[in-house]
Amino acid sequence: MKSLEEHIKEALKCVRCGACKSVCPSFDVRRREPSSPRGRVALIEASLKGEEGLGGMYVGHIKECTLCGSCLNNCPNGVDVPGLVMAARAEHVRREGLSPVASFALRNMLSSDRFMPWALKLASKLQGLFLKSSSVENGLVSRFSLPFIGGGRLLPELAGVFFMDRRHVRALSEAKGDSSKPRIGFFVGCGVNYLLPDIGESTVRVLKEAGAEVVVPSGQVCCGMPALSTGDVKTARSLALKNLEAFEQGEYDYIVTSCATCGHGLKNIFRELLSGEEDGMSARVERFSSRVKDITELLEGILSYKGRAGEGSGDRVVTYHDPCHLRKYQGISEEPRLLLEKTGLRFKGMKNPCKCCGLGGGLAFSNYELSMEIARKKAEGVRGCGADVVATACPGCIIQLKDALHRYGVRAKVVHVVELL
Ligand code: SF4
Ligand code: SF4
Repeated sequence: MKSLEEHIKEALKCVRCGACKSVCPSFDVRRREPSSPRGRVALIEASLKGEEGLGGMYVGHIKECTLCGSCLNNCPNGVDVPGLVMAARAEHVRREGLSPVASFALRNMLSSDRFMPWALKLASKLQGLFLKSSSVENGLVSRFSLPFIGGGRLLPELAGVFFMDRRHVRALSEAKGDSSKPRIGFFVGCGVNYLLPDIGESTVRVLKEAGAEVVVPSGQVCCGMPALSTGDVKTARSLALKNLEAFEQGEYDYIVTSCATCGHGLKNIFRELLSGEEDGMSARVERFSSRVKDITELLEGILSYKGRAGEGSGDRVVTYHDPCHLRKYQGISEEPRLLLEKTGLRFKGMKNPCKCCGLGGGLAFSNYELSMEIARKKAEGVRGCGADVVATACPGCIIQLKDALHRYGVRAKVVHVVELL
């Protein structure tokens, strides 16, 4: 991880030009300088230099960043504002500790490959007591206002049987040894495993159709991005190590994920997270991270997936939302659109497809109302283009978009690109 001096140096690259303000989703709603990337850099710089009296206001502005990366992409000096925000959150956790809820969720739940599935299995049995089926959408809404969730929020149903627990998925935990096919290690991620297992099923199906051998290594855990964006570097690092070890048990041509956030973490963040560990670690991380591909990148760019053109209905209109972690951090925007052309659906772009949906950086939990205000424009974009289906490539975005469309009364189905193939 970077030193304090390196972070101050990064902050000093900011010349206060303001070019980042027009693309910042939280500034777009708040319209106040401290909620802009430039304002955040100034606050973080003051904090790093040890200036006193920043207090709760400072923490609030740091937490309102979705870590979308739009400012970084738009900054003439390449100031890594999201990197500074993550460093500021980590410093805050180092000084103040985690809240009891965050500590339980990240250190007891997320870090445990036994307790987390057990607790979520219990929750899946009890969810009907607190949540009921939505009358218009595929999801659940709270029966009454719940702590940390509130009322009226559309939530995904916890899967009856988690993806990794399914018998046919367990059977994929070891390679069969077919050397004629590209061997793919599937990194599943929490969103797919616990909430949206159909994406996992589609990923395996499509990879097999594309001629690959699919392995779902056991022992894999959360990618660590939720912990890192909260400032809990310790948990994120321990999860990264577990995943590295799980995927070192086999030989893979590629490691694939259907989650844009996991992909960004495994490709880009691992290198920084595990730097400074024991000798030989950087070579191990490089070997792992250089093989990670997003499913759309692998299918379109490497496996040349042909699709099943003509099987979709040309009457239905599909649009695409760019997940920030895919487009801005991995540079992937063409591949999902090219895959959608193979579905037989009629493609129509929405206004500002790469604008953040408001979920990122933990904002949907730390400030749900702001998160939903950011999502309002996305919902209007979907309404404006008249799409029947919104495709994207991140389980987190899917959950957020479903909730936003439900809240703002836009009738469109939200799915992952692979579910349409
Ligand atoms: S972060 Fe970059 S774009 Fe924003 S004010 Fe500073 S130099 Fe300008
Ligand atoms: S990462 Fe996104 S939300 Fe955070 S300051 Fe930059 S543009 Fe704003």
